[in-house]
Amino acid sequence: MQIPAAFDYARAESVDHALQLLAEHGEEARIIAGGHSLLPMMKLRLAGPEWLIDINDLADLDYITSDGDTVRVGALTRHVSLLESDFIARVFPIVRDAEQTIADPLVRNRGTIGGSLCQADPAEDLSTVCHVLRAELVIRGPNGERTVPMRELHRGPYETSVEQNEILTEVRWPIRARTASAYTKVERRVGDWATTAAGASVTMGSDGQIEDVTIGLTAVGLDGGTATRAADAVRGQQPSEELYAKAGRLAAEDCNPVADQRGTEAYKRHLADELTRRVLRRAVERVMATAGQGS
Ligand SMILES: Cc1cc2nc3c(=O)[nH]c(=O)nc-3n(C[C@H](O)[C@H](O)[C@H](O)COP(=O)(O)OP(=O)(O)OC[C@H]3O[C@@H](n4cnc5c(N)ncnc54)[C@H](O)[C@@H]3O)c2cc1C
Repeated sequence: MQIPAAFDYARAESVDHALQLLAEHGEEARIIAGGHSLLPMMKLRLAGPEWLIDINDLADLDYITSDGDTVRVGALTRHVSLLESDFIARVFPIVRDAEQTIADPLVRNRGTIGGSLCQADPAEDLSTVCHVLRAELVIRGPNGERTVPMRELHRGPYETSVEQNEILTEVRWPIRARTASAYTKVERRVGDWATTAAGASVTMGSDGQIEDVTIGLTAVGLDGGTATRAADAVRGQQPSEELYAKAGRLAAEDCNPVADQRGTEAYKRHLADELTRRVLRRAVERVMATAGQGS
């Protein structure tokens, strides 16, 4: 059995209290949310915080709300809440697509969106979802609140722009009319991390052309989180199988997969191509099916 190094523990009673505890204990303090990424890393001695600041009592960070233009999701919102929200599934079907593939019910009952994004694991499914939905992140620190776009959140694998004395508090997803999204993943067995996954969001113009699109890939080393050349090739075009194939080829060219126990570089590149085609096709079909409903 793996056992983490000794640590001290404090339960935050509010966001301000959590910030105060982070300031008090400095570099050696870490926020713990669901603990499903941090605790395994501590057991493997890949992380060794001396203080854990538990934010699980902060119910005011656990919510899904919308004002019609933007959906706001509190950082402590659990995977299961995102999975089970019919509202989210209607407005952003990519979220339920992705959540259905994340781990198992035990992990989904505890793991949070804030922890997923702050872990910055290149195989994290919700990171791709947030890139595709052009998320904005609200971060609170000792000097107040700031908002950063998703492309600025991750500085690299396991590294984010959330400073040691800050907390991610909210994820914002803008709602767009005539838009739908999709996510699909290849995994070695149910609940495993992605071998490769892809997500896309498509906005259709009233002329039947693809007005706007974002494409994301998971676990294949895509710089900046989105496949920009593939998206540029699709934008302003009439949807067609040839177009999806072109986008798939470009996305596969632009990723940087690494061979590991989940597959060779060539296999992952092949998946990036095929899964990009599938999510584009499905997103377009979904806009068509819900045309005029603003989803
Ligand atoms: C067996 C298993 C299988 C899994 N499979 C998948 C999968 O297929 N796909 C997938 O995407 N994920 C998977 N996960 C990861 C899971 O989604 C985790 O829940 C998630 O990565 C981390 O969320 P958490 O709330 O548990 O974060 P924690 O482990 O509590 O924290 C993770 C990191 O984020 C920091 N942090 C947490 N919340 C905040 C905040 N609000 N502000 C600032 N920093 C914060 C912590 O300090 C820590 O550094 C799996 C996990 C396990 C154990």
